[in-house]
Amino acid sequence: MALFQSKHLSGVHAPHYKNTAELPPVRMPVPGKVYISMQQHMGAPCQPLVKKGDSVKVGQLIGESTAFMSAPVHSSVSGQVVELGEIINVNSSRATCVVVETDGEQTVHESVRPPEVNDTASFLEAVKASGLVGLGGAGFPTFIKLNPKNVDEVDTLVVNGAECEPYITTDFRTMMDDTDNLFTGIALIKKYLTIQNVYIGVEKNKPQAIELLQKRCETLEGYHVVALDDKYPKGAEKVIAYETCGRVIPEGKLPSDVGIIVSNVTSVAFIAKYIKTGMPLIEKNLTVDGSAVAEPKNVTALIGTTYEDVIGFCGGYKSEPKLLIMGGPMMGLSVYSDQYPVVKNNNAVLAFDSVDAENLKETACIRCGRCIRACPYHLMPASFEAAYKAHDLETLKKLKVNLCMECGCCSYICPARRPLVMVNRLSKKLLLAEQKKTGGK
Ligand code: SF4
Ligand code: SF4
Repeated sequence: MALFQSKHLSGVHAPHYKNTAELPPVRMPVPGKVYISMQQHMGAPCQPLVKKGDSVKVGQLIGESTAFMSAPVHSSVSGQVVELGEIINVNSSRATCVVVETDGEQTVHESVRPPEVNDTASFLEAVKASGLVGLGGAGFPTFIKLNPKNVDEVDTLVVNGAECEPYITTDFRTMMDDTDNLFTGIALIKKYLTIQNVYIGVEKNKPQAIELLQKRCETLEGYHVVALDDKYPKGAEKVIAYETCGRVIPEGKLPSDVGIIVSNVTSVAFIAKYIKTGMPLIEKNLTVDGSAVAEPKNVTALIGTTYEDVIGFCGGYKSEPKLLIMGGPMMGLSVYSDQYPVVKNNNAVLAFDSVDAENLKETACIRCGRCIRACPYHLMPASFEAAYKAHDLETLKKLKVNLCMECGCCSYICPARRPLVMVNRLSKKLLLAEQKKTGGK
């Protein structure tokens, strides 16, 4: 099946609200306590390596797993472990949470030193040890992404600078403020994975970034900057792969199956910083914005800092928050409390007042077809809804609901305000439960 039917994939013209684009991240002070989750990535949760009463230092390994699909967790502060609690993640799963009372000293752990990198194996080992996961929001362990089985067939690196979600501007700031690390990171991946071509995809609503990157690429062989239409979701993996270098990732396949690796700009820049310093992933740049936030800005927060502390640093709430979101308004997940901590794949904290958080009343589907036209994969969300309600698993399979990336275009465009993405998620869960029951038959 040809996944894409048009040269330029559909999507929606969502308002950009890039209010914080001109604001480089401001470093937050060390909070009194941090709450470090053992599940900040796709895959198996980590087991804590510390217990109540232990002293910890910045960069110390405090959680790891023997599972292949996982990523180690490090302490973002120095201080004392006061509790091993439980945290409910935004996706409703539960994980252990290491609570550390900080001592304010930020003493760096002895293990933090630049790794020795001199070949592909040591490069991949370093990326693994850094604890890096996809910083664009996906949370996929980066060392796995950079180590596909068919690495010899990979010839292209797609660097994702689209940042198409409304409000979020942290990747834009990486491109503007951390350009040297971005290009060093690209060069490292290119060298150790023997990649020939580099495509950096950036939406046209970031002309300064496009100009800056184009200048840097002028003298570099095999580097291309692609200006993408500023239409959501240009940053989705399959979309940016197609629109930068024309590769179609078929259903059930990985980018490496079509010879590419796709990585977010901030993840790539982090690799360079880690190789230089040996400091693992212990902090995140976040866009803090929304109608309930007094002083929207970009901040650098230590992992484990609560949203309450983050929003407090941004002047606190200027009106009662009715909706808190981790990530962007299209694909982000709502958060149940501002006691929730910053995690690795967190690139924004948005707080909205009652006007913006209002749930518009849904009405009956008028069969306008807008959801189908907006879907980048030309799926049929209205038909998913009917099949889901009828518990018709065969039709859900035939309609390929599992291809849905939950981008939200269908819900956004629907004039009847049908909760299409939620139904898509539930449908996928239904198929997964069925698959588990039948052992995958
Ligand atoms: S959420 Fe799924 S069905 Fe809806 S537009 Fe996005 S990919 Fe298509
Ligand atoms: S956009 Fe909404 S109203 Fe139109 S066909 Fe899709 S579900 Fe129905």
